[in-house]
Amino acid sequence: MLIRVNNAQIVELARKVVYGIGAIKKLATLCKDLEYTKVLIVSGPTVTKGIVKDYIYEQFEKEQITYAHEVVRDDNLEELKEYTKSYADIDSIVAVGGGHTIDISKVLASWMNVSYITVPTNASHDGFTSPYVNFLLRRELSNHKDEYPPYRPQSPIGIIGDTELIAQSPKKYIAAGVGDTVAKFVAELDWSLAHRMIGEEYDIYAASFGLMTAKMVADKINDVAQGNELGIRALFKAHGSSGVAMSIAGSSRPASGSEHLISHSLDLLSLEHDYDNPHGFQTGIGTIIGYYLHGKDWKYIKQILQKVGAPTTLDELRIDRDIMIEAMLMAPKIRKRYTILSCGLTKKAAIKALEQTEID
Ligand SMILES: [Zn+2]
Repeated sequence: MLIRVNNAQIVELARKVVYGIGAIKKLATLCKDLEYTKVLIVSGPTVTKGIVKDYIYEQFEKEQITYAHEVVRDDNLEELKEYTKSYADIDSIVAVGGGHTIDISKVLASWMNVSYITVPTNASHDGFTSPYVNFLLRRELSNHKDEYPPYRPQSPIGIIGDTELIAQSPKKYIAAGVGDTVAKFVAELDWSLAHRMIGEEYDIYAASFGLMTAKMVADKINDVAQGNELGIRALFKAHGSSGVAMSIAGSSRPASGSEHLISHSLDLLSLEHDYDNPHGFQTGIGTIIGYYLHGKDWKYIKQILQKVGAPTTLDELRIDRDIMIEAMLMAPKIRKRYTILSCGLTKKAAIKALEQTEID
C-alpha cells in the first residue's frame, strides 16, 4: 500500500515470503520471527480446515504459540463483528484458504489493527498478496458499503506459498489464476492510455513490474498447464509480484484495467442472473476483449487461456450474449478508472468485438 505524504512515498510490502514444496511447515518459524504470540487462524470450512488441522496445530503447539481457529463461510457483518470482540487480545491473524477467506481475514486484521500472514491454498487470483478486498469493491459498487466499518488497506506482512498444496487444488483454480495474470497485459495498456489521454500519473516501474508477471506466466504456460512445480512456482511468483506492483503504484492500476471492469460488471449482473464464475475466468475473457479493443493480437491471449483450459467463449462461461454486452457497456460507468472502454464503446462495436474474437 502506498501512502502519499507530500512528495515522499512509503511503499509497504510483505516482509517475508516463503514458497516452494513444504513451505507451510515454516509457518510457526515465521510467526516466531515476527514475534507473534496470540494468533487467530482463519480458514474456510472444508479443505482448508483440514489443512490447518493437519499442518498447523502441531507446529504451533511445538513452538508454544497460543492460537484459536475460526472457520469463516461468508462476509456476514454481525459474525465478523463478533470475532473482533471474542478475539480482542490477539496480536496477529493467519489466513489459510482461497481468495474469499483471505479477503475476510484482511478486513478483520484492519478492524482489529493487527498484521496478518496469508497462506493461499490455491492460486486463483492475486488477492493473497494485495491489500485490496474484492468483496468490499462489490459492496461499494452495489451501494452496500456503508454498513461496513472503514477498511484500511494493508499488505500481508508474510506470505507462505506451499507449491505442493497449491498444486493439489482443483485445476479450475490454476486456470482462473492464469486469467487473472494475463489481465496485466490489458491493465498496462489502459494505464498508459489514461496517461496519454487524461494525464493520469503513470509509474513505469510499477507498470513494468505488472507486465512482467503476465509475461512470466505466458513463458511458462506449458508447465502451468501441467501443474508441475515450475509452473505453480511461476504462477505464485507472478501473483506475488503483482502485489508488489500494486504496492509501488499505491493502487490496483498495474493489475486491473478494462478487463477487470468487465468482470466487476459481470459480478454485479450475476446478482440478478444465474451464473457464478471464478474471478479469473471473467478477467480472462475480459482480457481477450481489451486486447482486441487496443488493436493487439488477441489470439495470443486466447491461446494462453486455452492451454490451461480457461474459458474463452460465452458458452464456456455460461453467460448469455445480452448479459455480456450489458456488462461491457456498463463497465466504464461503474468505477472512475479511465480505460479503453472510456473512449465510448457502442453496442454495435461491443457485438462486433465478441464476434471478431469468437467469444460469441
Ligand atoms: Zn483480479
